[in-house]
Amino acid sequence: MAILQLRKDEDPILRKQSRPIEVFDEKLRVFAEDMIETMHAEMGVGLAAVQVGKLRRMLTYDLYDESGPGVLINPRILCSEGESEGVEGCLSVTVIRGYVNRPEKLTVEGYDLEGKKITIEAEGLFARVLCHEMDHLDGILFTDKMTREYVVEEETEEES
Ligand SMILES: [Zn+2]
Repeated sequence: MAILQLRKDEDPILRKQSRPIEVFDEKLRVFAEDMIETMHAEMGVGLAAVQVGKLRRMLTYDLYDESGPGVLINPRILCSEGESEGVEGCLSVTVIRGYVNRPEKLTVEGYDLEGKKITIEAEGLFARVLCHEMDHLDGILFTDKMTREYVVEEETEEES
């Protein structure tokens, strides 16, 4: 296993389209392990392959509960409902955090590491993470969609 180098900020690769994965082999499984290790090292809840320099439609996630970590390949949204506003940050975007509207619930179809089709039902934070990571696969960053910036002072107020 290895920790991969994160691509950040103005790195042009972050704006490129990722291509579907067609070969589900041992190399892919090793890469998935490295992605998960990198995500964990950065305490991230999600990571897209492009963020470590690979233009492939693949993401990892971990909400640090009993369901993760997980890998999702060639994902697409089958349906979504509702809307919720929440604060997002990104391992590829230093400093800025902001409010983004995402679906409250969604159903996503994709493939696991064996190439088997899987369907994931997600809501709340999990739905948000999947939308954020799927946007990366199309070269979209949360800063493109955020309605306003999240200012750190607000956090202190909420906590007090
Ligand atoms: Zn991100």
